[in-house]
Amino acid sequence: MNIVYKHENKALIHSAKNILELNGIECVIRNEHSASAGGNLGLSNSAAELWVRSGSDKSKALKIIDSEITNAPTNPSWICGQCEEENDGSFELCWKCQSEPAGT
Ligand SMILES: [Zn+2]
Repeated sequence: MNIVYKHENKALIHSAKNILELNGIECVIRNEHSASAGGNLGLSNSAAELWVRSGSDKSKALKIIDSEITNAPTNPSWICGQCEEENDGSFELCWKCQSEPAGT
């Protein structure tokens, strides 16, 4: 077992696990539930850990995590050309009027 990622944010750990599994890497989350006891104190040891089962997967897993999680591209927010409402970068259509972003 090899640890490849550690973070207090359980959602990040879970998305990292999903991405690794999509790439055929077997992995498990450890320490996930320890935060309930000390989470309010911000203890560093409350971070959840992601481990890969096979040592041969470790370098591949680290690369994937690096590109997909640590340096994940964030979409810039955009302004709707129809109603001028600001939309989150993850939205494909304007939340208000369902228009597509200008220029696409
Ligand atoms: Zn709009």
